[in-house]
Amino acid sequence: MNNEQSINIVLDHLAHSKFRSSFHLKEKDKNYLKEKGMPIIMSHADDFITKRLAPAVIPNDGKQTPMRGHPVFIAQHATACCCRSCLYKWHKIPMHRELTMEEKNYILALIKTWLTKEMEK
Ligand SMILES: [Zn+2]
Repeated sequence: MNNEQSINIVLDHLAHSKFRSSFHLKEKDKNYLKEKGMPIIMSHADDFITKRLAPAVIPNDGKQTPMRGHPVFIAQHATACCCRSCLYKWHKIPMHRELTMEEKNYILALIKTWLTKEMEK
């Protein structure tokens, strides 16, 4: 199974969660994404993941990702990449240690795929 297939399986699994599937981009988010372009948005995502999710110790874990204000925040809630507890519960990524490069790339790929699908709606 390649990376793209495993990402689609996870996204399909998430789509069956009432809570996760309730998140969608609003018109304002879509316009922002269009205006900035995907590469810039993904550089913001990289920054959020590095600062708010990757460290071994996160004092405000569970509260570090706002519910609105940036398309990536919405994507993080929709894909259960919002905090380390959700990353553990949904993606089996262990808590209390720094994220590996591979894990960061997996999270970024999930976010990017979700955003792309959402923009096509
Ligand atoms: Zn969470």
